[in-house]
Amino acid sequence: MEDFKAKAIVRGNMVQPEHDIALQDTDRLQGRAALVNNVKAAVALAGAVRSTLGPRGLDKMLVDSDGSSLVTNDGVTVLETAQIEHPTARLLIAASSSQDKVARDGTTTTVVLTAELLQNALEMVRSGIHPSVVINGYNIAQKECLRELDSLSRDPSSKSELESVVSTSLAGKIGDSLGEHLTALAIRAAEVISKEDGGDDLERLRVKRLQVSGGSSSDSELVSGLVIAKTRLDQSTPNSRKGGRVAIIDGGLENPKLEIDAEIEVRSAGVLQGFHKRTMENLQEQVSHLLSLGVDLLIVRDGVADEAISMLREAGITAYRRFERNDLEMISRLTGSNIVRGIGRLRGDDVGTYENRSENVTAGVSHTAIEGSKGGAMTVIIRGSSPQIREECERAFDDAIGVAFRLTRDSRMLPGGGASQTHLARHLRTFAPANKGREQIAIEGYAAALEVIPRSLAENAGLSPIDEVLELSASQASDPDNGSWIGLNAWTGEKARMDKLGILDPLFVVSNSISGATEAAISVLRINDVLWAKQDPLTPDWKEGEDQED
Ligand code: ADP
Ligand code: MG
Repeated sequence: MEDFKAKAIVRGNMVQPEHDIALQDTDRLQGRAALVNNVKAAVALAGAVRSTLGPRGLDKMLVDSDGSSLVTNDGVTVLETAQIEHPTARLLIAASSSQDKVARDGTTTTVVLTAELLQNALEMVRSGIHPSVVINGYNIAQKECLRELDSLSRDPSSKSELESVVSTSLAGKIGDSLGEHLTALAIRAAEVISKEDGGDDLERLRVKRLQVSGGSSSDSELVSGLVIAKTRLDQSTPNSRKGGRVAIIDGGLENPKLEIDAEIEVRSAGVLQGFHKRTMENLQEQVSHLLSLGVDLLIVRDGVADEAISMLREAGITAYRRFERNDLEMISRLTGSNIVRGIGRLRGDDVGTYENRSENVTAGVSHTAIEGSKGGAMTVIIRGSSPQIREECERAFDDAIGVAFRLTRDSRMLPGGGASQTHLARHLRTFAPANKGREQIAIEGYAAALEVIPRSLAENAGLSPIDEVLELSASQASDPDNGSWIGLNAWTGEKARMDKLGILDPLFVVSNSISGATEAAISVLRINDVLWAKQDPLTPDWKEGEDQED
């Protein structure tokens, strides 16, 4: 990019000695060189993930600088892991992360679509259309698409159709039977947490993922409550209890530590005994404090002194130690307890309540499940023989529950397999002429960009992208009633009704990918637009030959 700038400035000065005209010329070339450069970055980035799109997309193996590796088919994982610094590329990655956050799926689609929108924008700009006209046209097209998707969508007509919407999001990431299993778990968990209050992150806050080695991924299961791979400190305390009061300590129940080089002068047996007595008193004070607050369940991040174990038992308190911070936070949310730095600082209103605590052996490992009074939590126990398999299974479950949970709030669905985008492209082509002026061209450019989705799905399935897109469009047009639900089955290559095959995407995933991609493309165009600002948008003002990019 630095190179382009330098060239443009030199050229500007040489060609046109008049100062202001030279500057104007420079600005224009800089603007276009910047756009070319930004589009190149976007296209390169999209190229990196495009081959993962769809059920027959390829997996990518990501290798870290320390040699550790990760195999994934997940676009956003690829992008977030890659170390990319180009500002436009960062913007695309941000768009894909935001898609992940809002919709939990459709991340690859968003990036691929953004790059295609930019590429088409560049072509229009080269043919003399001002970027602000492209931006206008794209905005009009986006609005029309969102409206059109709303009217194309419908609610699932059966539980099995709902399951198809969730399992489509897993297609190609994991095997079919595991996909069905995870789909069932995700829908069950989503139903439970949909009754809770909370924002978009509820399915992350209320559903814990616990990886347990061994077994196969299809042994993964869902259990109610927060499950932690730990048992109580003292096996002679009760292994379950229905309801009670819980204190959470970000610290321990331990003896005050002696400084390493502190010297205790032992002149007589009495000194040592006195010291021991004081530490015992200190521990007993802490236990009595817990007892006075009605605590029967103590959870600490650090350790519990051996001497305190019997004191706790006598006080009827069951204790757990060495909890991870995340688990402490989850229990805190479920029970309404505050996490306090030391038992001495604990006040009555820091103590929360739980509904149930029980210990079971799940997947061959002892676990404790805790259910809070402030709402339910679920834990999905992810099984698998290797850490990579478990990670991929967890990511697949993340997608499934993300989609399943959002479907409890808006269950409308659309045909997958490129059908929705093909429908939109067809619709925009009839809609474009109704618009004024050059925006029409931008709307058509937008329509063509949408077809990158069926095109990539076909390409990744080893089919001819051009023929498939044409045939798909023709099949849709041949049936005015339900044609728009015809998409490409990437497994067989047939063009068929996607609702009949259960290849279905949630409306919120498709709409968000369209608005996210449009916004990202427009913000890249705007960067360049600043440099174009001086020009009249209606004057075509440069010729193809002026390009500097190669
Ligand atoms: P993203 O990260 O965008 O979700 P995916 O790799 O998950 O990317 O691919 C999603 C796309 O794959 C959607 O457009 C969906 O409709 C499509 N798809 C899923 N299953 C099939 C199938 N069996 N045939 C064709 N397309 C499918
Ligand atoms: Mg997906």
